[in-house]
Amino acid sequence: MKFATLASCFERLEATSSRNEMIALLARLLAGVPPDEIGIVCYFVLGEIGPGYSEVNLGIGDRTAAAAIALAAGTDPASVEAAARELGDYGDVATRLIAAPGEEPLSVAGVHRTLSEIAGASGPGSADRKVNLLARLLAAATPRQRRYISRLAAGEMRLGVGDMTLLDALAEAFLGSKAQRPPLEHAYNVSSDIGRVARTLRVEGLFGVQAITVTLHKPIRPMLTQRVARISEILERIGSPVVAVEEKYDGERIQAHKDGDDVTLFSRRLTDVTHQYPDIARHVRQSVRADAAILDGEAVAFDHETGTYRPFQTLMRRRRKHRVSEVAGEIPATYRAFDLLYLNGESYLYRSYPERRARLEEVLARDNYISPADRIVTSDTDGITAFYLSCIERGLEGVVCKSCADDSFYRAGAREWQWIKWKSDYAPGISDTLDLVIVGANAGRGKRAGTYGSVLCAAYNPEEDLFQTVCGMGTGFSDVDLADLPRRLAAAKVDRQPVRVMVNPQAGPDFWFAPRRVVEVLGIEITESPIHTCNWDPERRRGLALRFPRFVRWRDEKSPEQATTAAEVAAMFRRQREV
Ligand code: ATP
Repeated sequence: MKFATLASCFERLEATSSRNEMIALLARLLAGVPPDEIGIVCYFVLGEIGPGYSEVNLGIGDRTAAAAIALAAGTDPASVEAAARELGDYGDVATRLIAAPGEEPLSVAGVHRTLSEIAGASGPGSADRKVNLLARLLAAATPRQRRYISRLAAGEMRLGVGDMTLLDALAEAFLGSKAQRPPLEHAYNVSSDIGRVARTLRVEGLFGVQAITVTLHKPIRPMLTQRVARISEILERIGSPVVAVEEKYDGERIQAHKDGDDVTLFSRRLTDVTHQYPDIARHVRQSVRADAAILDGEAVAFDHETGTYRPFQTLMRRRRKHRVSEVAGEIPATYRAFDLLYLNGESYLYRSYPERRARLEEVLARDNYISPADRIVTSDTDGITAFYLSCIERGLEGVVCKSCADDSFYRAGAREWQWIKWKSDYAPGISDTLDLVIVGANAGRGKRAGTYGSVLCAAYNPEEDLFQTVCGMGTGFSDVDLADLPRRLAAAKVDRQPVRVMVNPQAGPDFWFAPRRVVEVLGIEITESPIHTCNWDPERRRGLALRFPRFVRWRDEKSPEQATTAAEVAAMFRRQREV
């Protein structure tokens, strides 16, 4: 397929503000892509060159981008950087500065090959090689294509298309309607590879997609938890008379894949973090008594001398590229496994939680550094409360209650009532914090001149693939946080309202941000609001808003689509009324 066809579709996607139109445009495009390129087209649409978990991550960095554009344009990198500061986007810079008309007809596969080569270049001389490869590609491209090649290379596609929109488009292109998204979504949840889903759908049809199952060394999208307003609600909601109440750890979620001696560890964002946790990889290798297994669990920093858990921030000090083993020695991690997703060739996703847990206990030899999550099994609220209190005393965050019903399957990627968390109350009225996405900001005045006065925060609505605003937040920031705000948000800054962001014109901010940065926010109450668009009711012209929002911390490990959903905000609002 010609890259020109793709670039002109990207241009049309950028010009539309309607999600349905986006789906229609994408569906038309996808229907015409040959089988060997459809996976690539899907990655490109999402601004990637491979599945999110793969090592083939581009994001070449500003310096390389500037050097490559300079080489192709016959100018110097400083002029390119100056233009980038003015235009805010290397795509626009490349279009403006490179004068050559570009003649070589580029193919989608060809562009992908070169970008993959750039991503894979390493070792001595690789920096120059990246610059040369990209410069040659840019020189060969037409001005319109340069915009998207530069953005892909910089890891900043900015089309505003999310995973779910793309799945809707695939369903519309090959299954007749976006209502057919669920089987595609399921295949995506177990494989975390939208390109593979698209390719399989194109070549083998729905049957092929339905056969996509768990694969070693490919991450499964994690199952998430629901929340309730009162502890007594847990048993009403969870759908089984008996529940397991597990310790809730405040560490980093890790999915461990063991394949003989080969171990891969994935983070909650599905990136390969094996190199960050050599100690956990070793414990999994030694203590999981199975040829092949996939475990879900949490890495925590545990102090064996005092018998207490150390804070999340301590563990995050291990997020580094260099001196990994040294720091691992200073801050040893313990792996608390809470699920078994695969064992010796068989997927366990559709086995009940009690069965998965029993097998987990059989295969995992426990010691100080690896063990199944501690838990109790109970059928009454007092039991839950007592265990919860003992967890808090031991410095844990709270508990996660899990259904023991026959259908308590592992629902990859889903946030349903079979897992319910209960944490120490943060605020009266609301039993939990919200994780919201920053989509805008107002300029700071007076003491805040030079930074932002407040940021506009949104919840995610996965049904419509939209970010809907919930509050403007200006408090809770330390002076350091405040001064750092412009830097933190710089890469997300865009010059107009992003397509997937729904904002009431009355709340239109001074600056816009592509939905990227997630913050944890504490509030007092959810109320109806004529301004905020979360759960917007067009007839009553009202949405839901969070009152007295305060900044708690950045949630860099979360992607925007993992933010609190609009449905969760609505559920919190309803429960608050009941209480
Ligand atoms: P929170 O902000 O409450 O930590 P979150 O927003 O990161 O949660 P949730 O789905 O709301 O994500 O909470 C579940 C998280 O809790 C999981 O992603 C996992 O990392 C962590 N966790 C800790 N202990 C457990 C456990 N025993 N079972 C399941 N998840 C657990």
